[in-house]
Amino acid sequence: MYRADFPILQEQSKLIYLDNAASTQKPKCVLNAMDSFYSFYYANVHKGNCAIATEATKRFEEARKKIADFLHTTPNNIVWTRGATNALNMVACGLAQSLTTGDEVLVSVAEHHANFVPWQQACVKKKATFNVFNVLWNGQLDFEDFQKKLTKKTKVVSLTLMSNVLGVPNDLKPFIDAAHQVGATVVVDGAQSIAHLPVNVEELDCDFLVFSGHKLYGPTGIGVLYGKTAALDALPPYEFGGDMVDTVTLNKTTFAPAPMKFEAGTPSFVEAIGLATAVDYLQQVGQESIVTEEKKLTEYAVEQLRSACPDIHFLGEPELKSGILSFLIPDIHPQDIAFVLAKENICVRVGHHCALPVHTFFDVSSS
Ligand code: PMP
Repeated sequence: MYRADFPILQEQSKLIYLDNAASTQKPKCVLNAMDSFYSFYYANVHKGNCAIATEATKRFEEARKKIADFLHTTPNNIVWTRGATNALNMVACGLAQSLTTGDEVLVSVAEHHANFVPWQQACVKKKATFNVFNVLWNGQLDFEDFQKKLTKKTKVVSLTLMSNVLGVPNDLKPFIDAAHQVGATVVVDGAQSIAHLPVNVEELDCDFLVFSGHKLYGPTGIGVLYGKTAALDALPPYEFGGDMVDTVTLNKTTFAPAPMKFEAGTPSFVEAIGLATAVDYLQQVGQESIVTEEKKLTEYAVEQLRSACPDIHFLGEPELKSGILSFLIPDIHPQDIAFVLAKENICVRVGHHCALPVHTFFDVSSS
């Protein structure tokens, strides 16, 4: 019944779009909100005094408040970014500045490259140690292995709420509590889980959390970095330019407080409005019913796939999954499967899904 909300699915009635883990289609309300902003209120934010500039700024800041409410925090803890990758690089580059030789960073093998490579690079640059812990065969992060690799030298732990390959939600609370006990800063990658599961940053108690708008029915080019107040205050700015300064003299620049100190230049404010509208849409559908419906749909898909291909092999335990099914069918190349499905107008994703380490871990070749 929600197909009617998406112009592309109306226009192409035969299209079966199953590539939402890569990016979601956009509902009409999101497109309309952005169109109306461009058509009737467009002016740069935080700058002009005219009525449309005031209105644009008001709507932009209301969008920030919407995201803050969605995550159960306050607007000053919400930084607009260009996406999850941009937000993770912001945090990794900032935290890297205080890493030294002998310090350790710990991530899971299930991380997307966006939450793996920036930490690996930070460690190379600062001669710190990059540690990686395992996942269990069922797709959950391995708490036992995590505990083994968490040490007093661990300065940063960065974990996914849900791998975009395995699709199994992780209960991160025990990981976060254990990491805090050794004094580590905890970063959470919510890019995959955000459209599927409610998140409460206060309860989770992470120091940072990131996600992208485009995986949540919102536009591209916008993302969110949540940070605890103390964590944002301690993080150095990532980029420099307009809007992020307090004063600038010939010799010295002082920075605005968070979140502005991280928002150099003209932000993607129309996209921010689009993202806030997408969150409204998600909440109208209801996060509880999304969880229930996805469970039913996943069970149905697993049952159908198992009866059509009894030797199908799923990555991660299908019964634990929340809307993502990664699978292999022996003796048939994934590209061939995708090619046949594409002929039926069914869009799926083949390849390593920007997560090579977890494919290597499960001994799956992406070629
Ligand atoms: N983390 C996860 C788990 C993801 O699935 C993705 C996107 N596939 C990212 C991070 C990066 O998101 P983006 O490409 O929107 O920056």
